[in-house]
Amino acid sequence: MDFAYTPAQQELKARAAAYAELLMDYELESEAADGPLPRDTVKKLTHAAMDAGVYGINMPTEWGGAGLTLLEQVIVEEEFGKVTNCLWDIPWRPSNVLAMASPEQRERYLLPILRGERFDAFATTEPDSGSDAGAIATTATPVDGGWLLDGEKWFVTCGDVADFLLVQANVLPDNESTLFFVEKDTPGVRISRTPRFMHSAVNGHPEFVFENVFVPTESVLGEVGQGFELTKDWFTDERLMIAARTVGLAERALQLARDWAVQRKQFGVPISDFQMIQAMLADCAVDIAVNRSYTHQVAWEADHGVDRKTLHAKASIAKLSASEAAGRVVDRCLQIFGGRGYDRSYPIERMYREVRVDRIWEGTSEIQRVIVANELIKRGTAFLDLPVA
Ligand SMILES: Cc1cc2nc3c(=O)[nH]c(=O)nc-3n(C[C@H](O)[C@H](O)[C@H](O)COP(=O)(O)OP(=O)(O)OC[C@H]3O[C@@H](n4cnc5c(N)ncnc54)[C@H](O)[C@@H]3O)c2cc1C
Repeated sequence: MDFAYTPAQQELKARAAAYAELLMDYELESEAADGPLPRDTVKKLTHAAMDAGVYGINMPTEWGGAGLTLLEQVIVEEEFGKVTNCLWDIPWRPSNVLAMASPEQRERYLLPILRGERFDAFATTEPDSGSDAGAIATTATPVDGGWLLDGEKWFVTCGDVADFLLVQANVLPDNESTLFFVEKDTPGVRISRTPRFMHSAVNGHPEFVFENVFVPTESVLGEVGQGFELTKDWFTDERLMIAARTVGLAERALQLARDWAVQRKQFGVPISDFQMIQAMLADCAVDIAVNRSYTHQVAWEADHGVDRKTLHAKASIAKLSASEAAGRVVDRCLQIFGGRGYDRSYPIERMYREVRVDRIWEGTSEIQRVIVANELIKRGTAFLDLPVA
């Protein structure tokens, strides 16, 4: 067993950390804007990410991505997670399922993303279909040359800045779940509401309505009937990246709280002298250390060919554990800051609000527990083992 970073991984981590520090310079501007940053700023940061080799990290180099393994992506995303206001969305990471695009679709959708010219968003959730992803009601009715889409999609992350959406719909008459490329400016597509959320993110999560939206035959990603499986692949990847980012977020929170605890004096001594503060700091360190190891392990296993079902369950363990641990860490760290932790000019306050959604999006904590329990009941505890080389 070798748990050490290679020199190349260490260098990648340092590069990602330097880029994350650059993003941090825009946190307060983003907080004040409570929405997208000016176009020029985004362009500058996009090119900086490309120069640093941390743009499109999940796509191969021959298409213009950074061509990183999942373990390398976890290393990068952990550094990105330290940045607030979802500024980590600027070094874009296209949906992993776009790798399944046909050569023509790749030219039209994926390659422009990797050049920083276009953006995608993934639309599966609906008003009556959240955790129950199989309950979607959006339909695709066959017509000459394609389909007509009708339905509604909610919480579409980056839907405000995206040029096109991947929309999950049921192809009639047999309700075959399918993913469609839908250009946002297609007649019949409209944003019905852009809710304000707890975090002040650099991109929004609008709600979309689709009314008689014509999509041509060539707009299916993969095959008709493959939508649910592709969505599951997207979830697996994203869950692992949420685990990585929440580990990073927790580490930044702990570093800030530790630095505060050693310099803040009450009763004539640093508050880090108090055992109750020490216990909080120690519990945070434990939460971070064990979740970092497990997230790295699962990414490594994915790179070494662990089967899809096992990976799905392991990514759920990583997401559930790391996101809940980060919630505990940020809560304790805010407590260590006392009243200042509640002040919006301190990053810890933003982290407290922002970490909450990690227990909800890409499947709630309860749904991760359902996935893990199902795997356990079907196949026993073997999936918890380390793989054999
Ligand atoms: C900021 C944000 C961004 C998002 N981005 C996207 C996006 O880009 N694309 C997209 O398609 N979706 C997105 N989502 C949607 C997100 O994935 C859903 O909100 C999430 O899956 C939960 O669905 P729901 O909100 O409908 O809650 P519900 O499914 O209604 O759940 C409500 C409660 O019931 C619990 N529950 C439900 N079923 C079970 C069960 N079987 N056992 C135990 N408890 C259960 C849940 O855990 C939860 O506590 C986003 C959500 C948010 C908040």
